[in-house]
Formats: sequence, structure tokens, C-alpha cells
Amino acid sequence: MVEAALENPVSGPGRWNFLNTYTHFMDPKRRLTIPSEWREPFSKTPTLYVLPDFFERSLRLIPDADMDRRLEKIRQIPLSDRRGRDLVRELGRQSDKVQWDSQGRIRIKDELLNWAGLVDQVLLMGAYDTFELWDPKTWAQTNRAATVDQDKLREVAPVKTLRVDANEGWKTKEQALEMIEWLAKDGHIEFVEQPMPAATPVKDWVWLKARSPLPIFADESYHLAKDVPQVAECFHGANVKLVKTGGVSGGFEALSAARKAGLKTMLGCMIESSILISAAAHLAELCDHLDVDGNILISNDPYLGVTSSKGILSFAQAPEKFGLRVSPR
Ligand SMILES: [Mg+2]
Repeated sequence: MVEAALENPVSGPGRWNFLNTYTHFMDPKRRLTIPSEWREPFSKTPTLYVLPDFFERSLRLIPDADMDRRLEKIRQIPLSDRRGRDLVRELGRQSDKVQWDSQGRIRIKDELLNWAGLVDQVLLMGAYDTFELWDPKTWAQTNRAATVDQDKLREVAPVKTLRVDANEGWKTKEQALEMIEWLAKDGHIEFVEQPMPAATPVKDWVWLKARSPLPIFADESYHLAKDVPQVAECFHGANVKLVKTGGVSGGFEALSAARKAGLKTMLGCMIESSILISAAAHLAELCDHLDVDGNILISNDPYLGVTSSKGILSFAQAPEKFGLRVSPR
């Protein structure tokens, strides 16, 4: 929930869009100039929250208006969520607040600059309602890591068909296209899921869809059947999950609507017990691609239902003969 609150706003306030990548140098006092294009939409200088990204060695800057909405979600984290509360405490302890001066410069505290390895040259990367600061070498290594992983994989499975889930990871349409063109050279990648954040403007999705050498599928951008018109404009396919639709009826509607709109369909899942996986399996015939393996990734599934073997889902061994065909183990 914490990650969702910080990384996945449902939609930005719409008053600004941080786009493109800039390379700026910090001055001798370690001040960094914010691009004038990014400052323009603000009628008064906002306070920017500076948060360390614990998963990638970079800093994320969030305008106060947007941070308020995210904090509201954080306040809803229950006391029992130990991991969530630890992460919030760590973020609060390490974060900083800055405002740009009359020349558009910010001064982030040394502790954070050092943590992200920012020395002189800094990449300022737009991510729509937030932006990120990267050391160019760290950024290059992060991108290279994906190449190395794929090289290793191809050593053991040279022509195995792969599907790639970018999980909103590429920040701009240009970066997304560059990555998809690189992936397409592999020759055995079927499609790419959710290349950019769900908050990406429609025109950028349309731009990418027109140019992408591989089909692109919506995941975070597709929740319910009512989302279909926009998803059909922006993507070639849609990934339906019952945790997004709220159950099997909503899943049926979301898949049917997607197919009617000419989209390729995929049924996905989260880490789930056999209850929701079995419910999803009943909808398999509406899908071009199946990714319902959440129950085989856990060792404490309390239920018996559908089984999967060599990519085939089957109810042949399900003891329950009616309904979702699930029973307690
Ligand atoms: Mg996904």
C-alpha cells in the first residue's frame, strides 16, 4: 500500500507535466537548476518533497499538492501493517523539502545527494506528475542490468517465447519506444505490458502505439469494462485481473468489452489462492493469453481447485463439482 501511495497515483492534479530528460550540472554550492519549462506552469513556487527511491539509487521530487494526496493514502495504512509503517518511518526520516529560488535553483541536503551518488552532472527525468534525479552512470548501469539479464536468459533458452512486463517503468514515450525497439530485435518477444505509467497522457500512448514494433498491453491502465474506449485507442491488448474487476462477473465484462473493441486479451493475476485463480480459469476461453499462476507461487494455499501443468489449466482433479469448483484443502 505504501508503494502504491507513493508510486501509483490514480491521476495527477493535471496542472503540470514534467516531461523529457535534461542534463544539468550542480554549481559549486551543490545547487541544481530546475528546467524553466517545468517551473512555468506553477503560479507560485511550490514546495517539493525530495524522497529517496529505496529500490533504485535515485531521488524523486513531488510537488506539495500531489504529496498531500499521497500522504492521505499513507495515513490509511493500518497499525498492523508493520512493513508499511517501517517504510513510512524510513521515508519520513530521510526525506527533504525544498523550494526553488528566484533563479530556479534548489539545494537538496547532502545526505540525499550523497545517497543517490549525485556529484556534478545530474539527469533530471520527467515522470509526468513527479520527476527523478539520477547520476548518469547509475542510470546507464540500471539500463544495462536489463540487457545482461536478457543475455543470461538467452544462454539457457535461446528461442523461448517471452512476454515483457515493464510495469510502468519507462518514463517517456521516447524511452519506451527505444526499449521496445531493442526488445523487438530479440525476435521471440510476444508483447510488452504497460510500458509507461497509467497517468501518461493519451496522446503519448497513441504516439507509442503507432510506432511500437511489438504489441503493447494495458495492465495498470485497464481496470473495468468502462475503460475500454480509451484503452482501445492507446493499446493493442488488455490484461484483465479479477482483483482489479472485483470478481468474476466484472472480469467477464472487462474481457467481453475488450474483445468487442478488437483488443487482444490476457487474463492475469496477483499472488492469490486457488479461489480467485479458479474463478479466473472459468474465463480462460475469452483470452488470447493466460497468466494465472498465483496459486502455484505460494506454499500455503488453503484451497483446492483448478490445477496447472505444462501451461494447461484443468478442473479434472477438482473435488468440488459445482460453482467455482473450489473446496478447502
Ligand atoms: Mg502487469
